[in-house]
Amino acid sequence: MKLVKLLANLGYGSRKEVQRFIKAGAVTDDTGEVLREASNTPHERILFRGEPLDPPSPLVIIMNKPDDYTCSTEDPGDTIYDLLPARFSCRNPGLNPIGRLDKDTTGLLLMTDDGKLLHRIIHPKSNCLKRYHAVLDRPLNGSEGEIFASGEMLLRSEDRPLLPAQLEVLNEKEAIVTLHEGRYHQVRRMFAAVDNHVLTLKRISIGGLALPDDLEEGEWRPLTDAELALVF
Ligand code: URA
Repeated sequence: MKLVKLLANLGYGSRKEVQRFIKAGAVTDDTGEVLREASNTPHERILFRGEPLDPPSPLVIIMNKPDDYTCSTEDPGDTIYDLLPARFSCRNPGLNPIGRLDKDTTGLLLMTDDGKLLHRIIHPKSNCLKRYHAVLDRPLNGSEGEIFASGEMLLRSEDRPLLPAQLEVLNEKEAIVTLHEGRYHQVRRMFAAVDNHVLTLKRISIGGLALPDDLEEGEWRPLTDAELALVF
């Protein structure tokens, strides 16, 4: 692929802008040699202003979502897209969250430009377990685990019972909830249905992929193939 097309596809700018960057010598290989028009240099050896190029499509990234950021492109407040390089918004296809988190939920968020992968993970049949750490307003009363696991729990204004979910009590006001599906505000509504209130909620894993300890809130990085394999 021509250098200008490659960089424009990755969102480094319009073709015209990218052409200007190339002319100015911003694109080199890893030995420092300036790259011009067409190039046979492998993607991983191309540098833009000294930095490795973004991975090509399909791309999956892992983010530790901070509090107070929405998963929408439309929100007037802070969005998860503000945490990514501006050039990512020019990528085509764009990156979408795989299973949104509420504005006030933190933790593990995956994003991808691969529609098939997105649907594979969020499809109810995928059975990718999602685990959430919840801090509650009121002490647990001991009945919640059985209710959540019953497979008969109905949320307000829904007529389809929830799939059985698991509750692991950490202490009287903290628990880990494991979901097999992802309904709107599900964990918060489940606790509301048992007369409690979620104060903080953090997604800690999807499938076998746990939120890495070294990924600070607001940080993101490309997911490795080995990490992606853990999701299923
Ligand atoms: N359940 C919720 O209530 N909120 C989330 O963000 C995720 C699961």
